[in-house]
Amino acid sequence: MRIRFLGTGTSQGIPIIGCHCSACKSKDPKDQRFRTSVLIQRDSTTILIDSGPDVRMQLLRAEVKQLHAVLLTHEHNDHVIGLDDLRPLIFRSEAREMTLYGMTRVLDQVKSRFAYAFAEVPYPGAPKFNLKPIDFFETYSIGKIDFTPFPVMHGGLKIAGYRFKDFCYITDCKYLNKECISLIKDCEVLVLNALRINEHPTHLNFDESLKLIQEISPKKAYLTHLSHDYGAIANFQGLPEHVQFAYDGLEIVV
Ligand SMILES: [Zn+2]
Ligand SMILES: [Zn+2]
Repeated sequence: MRIRFLGTGTSQGIPIIGCHCSACKSKDPKDQRFRTSVLIQRDSTTILIDSGPDVRMQLLRAEVKQLHAVLLTHEHNDHVIGLDDLRPLIFRSEAREMTLYGMTRVLDQVKSRFAYAFAEVPYPGAPKFNLKPIDFFETYSIGKIDFTPFPVMHGGLKIAGYRFKDFCYITDCKYLNKECISLIKDCEVLVLNALRINEHPTHLNFDESLKLIQEISPKKAYLTHLSHDYGAIANFQGLPEHVQFAYDGLEIVV
């Protein structure tokens, strides 16, 4: 399975409009972060996790020609608001629709945010979505990709993390319950959010994220959903050897 990080930034992206900090002024491409998203490919199946406001540029850069489904982690704008921009891929697909997997609450939010796509007589050119509600701890298959959603606490909001055999993807987490930790314990590769240095009410910060990584003990972990708080990332010290900051365009094989 090939994983490509399409975006690794928090909700405002980096650079932040109008900010002059060292991360936002940096010329290093690793400091320029689109909103958080990954592309997962296995054989001829390609799926996307989350579709935020940068999705058009992300899919152009990754030269994506076909997409079989989108898995949604939650309904916040930086994870869903780009769904309409999937239209070119919808129009060229055989089914002429995009399958979206997500929690019922999240899919209900998609219906209200993109109400025109669900109208009885939709406007010509509106995207068509096929909604698939998920149950936690059930396993689903898309082509040759199997995945199991599990609950993640984003502050008080329950959202979805996804396990794909040896690869686990968690964004926007503040807390993970013991059952989920045991489900993903010892996975090969873990992606986990680490918003910033200082604490935050709904996202893990750097120290909390490292602590959770230690508990899960994957072979390798990548930090994502990052803010400009870390400064120019090349100068940042203090990562354990098996943990690294993800960056846009990074590709790994699991
Ligand atoms: Zn987010
Ligand atoms: Zn900044």
